[in-house]
Amino acid sequence: MSASDCIFCKIVARTSDSQEIYQDETTLAFMDIHPANDGHCLVIPKAHFETVFDMPPAAFGRVGSTAAKVARAVNEVLRPRGVSLIQANGELAGQSVLHVHVHVLPRRTDDNLLINWDRNSNNERRFDRERIAEIAVRLRSRLRG
Ligand code: 5GP
Ligand code: ZN
Repeated sequence: MSASDCIFCKIVARTSDSQEIYQDETTLAFMDIHPANDGHCLVIPKAHFETVFDMPPAAFGRVGSTAAKVARAVNEVLRPRGVSLIQANGELAGQSVLHVHVHVLPRRTDDNLLINWDRNSNNERRFDRERIAEIAVRLRSRLRG
């Protein structure tokens, strides 16, 4: 997949909308459009790399650093019972978007979230755009501080 066809590159270029919560020179964080759990966010490098194998380790380090910041904000603002950081490489690992991303997943008691959760689940609450936007406002404000 080339960068010009990539949905996450379009989000970086702002030719596609997202509920952005944080950015710095090389990374961007935004709300997942089909959250596996309430408060599910994504952290990506601004540059297009399909998998972790395609990028310099130090560039992944910057993504990791932003993921740690976002995870901290999620933990403080949403007060989940835990936070999982997940990053998939290849279809078998569950990767559906071929632009490196770290999932920041708030965990709750009995959420039974599998590593390869159903990316196309149609749980109504999870798809609630207003709910996603409301969480984005709270995380954005925490990450600004
Ligand atoms: P993967 O399946 O590659 O591990 O994760 C890709 C994630 O990107 C999924 O959780 C999916 O919901 C999310 N996603 C796919 N397309 C979009 C989009 O256009 N905008 C946002 N915000 N998230 C997306
Ligand atoms: Zn891309």
